[in-house]
Amino acid sequence: MTTIGNRLQDILAIIHSTRSSSQSRSTSLYNQPVQLLAVSKAQTSQAIREAYMAGQTMFGENYLQEALDKQTQLNDLAIEWHFIGPIQSNKTQPIAQNFAWVHSVDRLKIAQRLNDARPANLSPLQVCIQVNTSNEASKSGVVQAELMALATAIVQMPRLKLRGLMSIPEPSKDYNKQRSQFKQVRECYDALLAQGFALDTLSIGMSDDYQAAIEEGSTIVRIGSALFGARVAGHKALASELT
Ligand SMILES: *Cc1c(COP(=O)(O)O)cnc(C)c1O
Repeated sequence: MTTIGNRLQDILAIIHSTRSSSQSRSTSLYNQPVQLLAVSKAQTSQAIREAYMAGQTMFGENYLQEALDKQTQLNDLAIEWHFIGPIQSNKTQPIAQNFAWVHSVDRLKIAQRLNDARPANLSPLQVCIQVNTSNEASKSGVVQAELMALATAIVQMPRLKLRGLMSIPEPSKDYNKQRSQFKQVRECYDALLAQGFALDTLSIGMSDDYQAAIEEGSTIVRIGSALFGARVAGHKALASELT
């Protein structure tokens, strides 16, 4: 059986070779290393500990209560916790208190509440705006037409630091479709850069599409199942009740 440590090394090697072979582009995104965010939702604290011992320090969680329980169990480790799930406005305070990053900011009210709740003794909360490039009303993420206004508001909030964009395109097995969906996200990013926003993060790519995302300029790939194995069935429904 492959261990989490073996899979971690394999994924890091693929990330590295994909970035090395991606042709150099003009955008500054390609000068940066690609970081691995280990998505540990529905995985045990023991699995997180194993990945940490193998060298992984950034972990992403989707469900608040589950994440807080794991943070307590793992408080002897120097983990950088990222919140990547949907945010209900009544959960902004514990999120602002217990995470270094939030990737899933998608509306002004949430940004304002995170800013107001970020404790003064912590550095500003590092945030990405989640964009919905397919413009489907059912999907989370701000639509392109509203992106500039949200970014403009966030950079005025002293307790938030806007780092870039996150997106979860529709899953596809087709590599070219993956590329074209990620390209749209990068174009949103480039448009913000052109407007003078100082950004350095494009949080795109998951287990089944991270190579396409890296080719389109990803700086953080968020990988769960390829690293930890399949999530426990039914867990998601249970966890969202808790959140
Ligand atoms: C679950 C999840 C991931 C990881 O998905 P995998 O396909 O298991 O790699 C990444 N990002 C977000 C926002 C997620 O919810």
